[in-house]
Amino acid sequence: MTPPIVRFAPSPTGRIHIGNARVALFNHLFAATHLGRFILRFDDTDFSRSTAEFAQGIEIDLAWLGIVPHETFRQSQRVSLYEAAAARLRNEGRLYPCYETQEELEKRRKMQQARGLPPVYDRSALRLSDAERAALESEGRRPHWRFRLEPGVVAWDDLIRGPAHIDCAALSDPVLIRADGSFLYTLPSVADDIDMKITHVIRGEDHVTNTAVQLQLFAALAPDASPPVFAHHNLLIGASGEGLSKRTGSLSIASLRDDGYEAMAVAALATLTGSSDNVHAVRSLKELGESFDLAHVSRNPARFDPDDLATLTHRTLALFHFEDVRERLAALDIVGHKAEPLWRAARGNLSTFDAIFKWWRVVEGEIDAIREDPAFLKEAAQLLPAEPWDETTWSAWTSDVKTATGRKGKGLFHPLRLALTGEESGPELAALLPLMGRAKTMARLGD
Ligand code: GLU
Repeated sequence: MTPPIVRFAPSPTGRIHIGNARVALFNHLFAATHLGRFILRFDDTDFSRSTAEFAQGIEIDLAWLGIVPHETFRQSQRVSLYEAAAARLRNEGRLYPCYETQEELEKRRKMQQARGLPPVYDRSALRLSDAERAALESEGRRPHWRFRLEPGVVAWDDLIRGPAHIDCAALSDPVLIRADGSFLYTLPSVADDIDMKITHVIRGEDHVTNTAVQLQLFAALAPDASPPVFAHHNLLIGASGEGLSKRTGSLSIASLRDDGYEAMAVAALATLTGSSDNVHAVRSLKELGESFDLAHVSRNPARFDPDDLATLTHRTLALFHFEDVRERLAALDIVGHKAEPLWRAARGNLSTFDAIFKWWRVVEGEIDAIREDPAFLKEAAQLLPAEPWDETTWSAWTSDVKTATGRKGKGLFHPLRLALTGEESGPELAALLPLMGRAKTMARLGD
């Protein structure tokens, strides 16, 4: 396959949520596995709702997930390209001015419905004479512009849904340009896809109808080129069937990050839900890419449970090698020769990454030791061997304590754990003990 060029085209009208991340990840993983390019393209032609802050936030969220675009574009800076496309459509009689107000359109729709007709725009604006148009303009009306659809069925081979088709007779001619001259998303998207030589449009199935319209636009604007391949994937829905909304901030990537979930856990859940691959923890996007295949995406809604993020985060952390987290540990001041063995000892016991700090304090700082049976702990302290210590020290020491005190099992180990770590449970003490060292151990045993 020639290297694909894909794009992720969010409108910066809010922060992205896990459902938007799914689209971004599908595109990134598809491009990465085929050695292609990933373009980030902000759909920011809606000036009233798009902000630079949201755009910046989206870049931060993508970077956190591990997605670094090859190129970034803003549609607001490319309007001349869309003007040129619009001029071409006007010349060819495919773009026509309409003067109806929202209220007039609404009234017409109601009448159509009352007569049992489909609520499709009746094209009355196409029949206006020059004089009628001039009269409307002199009333102060400014036109919006509709694309005249060709009648007939538009068909394509969807990479996920298989053969797909839409009968355009059932669609209203779409408005491409608002009365204030600004562009809706439909035309800029196609003009850019042509200009950027996009090979694959991978997006949610809420865009299937747009695809029919946009394929007509591709044919009108680039009749000699073949249009991109389309792949429409199922949408993530919450456990009780609700859709996700960018505006409510529900399950935004930023909030999941703040809650301490791991990026790779979010990525795995966002990508693998609703596919024939089981949702499982991964170390990297590269590894996730190995399980990712558009052909495995189901056609049913992708129901996911945000509670799974906790388990996935725990499992993801357990997979990380020291190299994967060295910098993040350093940011917590977890450095030096104990950092790596501590990570290996504790990574399987973490609910969030920051929880590693508790275990760092156990080996390197101060804790509140819990001494439930001081006499026993003192006796155990007397039996501590001399340093150097290694991973065999714990079992040698506790077997001496067992012989001397007659204790075994929980009665032997639990009071030692409470005294040495201040916690009911945690990583293997055999691994922690040599990192704590003899002086700290003695002190915590109360000696
Ligand atoms: N801004 C659109 C969206 O976020 C882009 C759709 C597309 O990929 O063409 O849904």
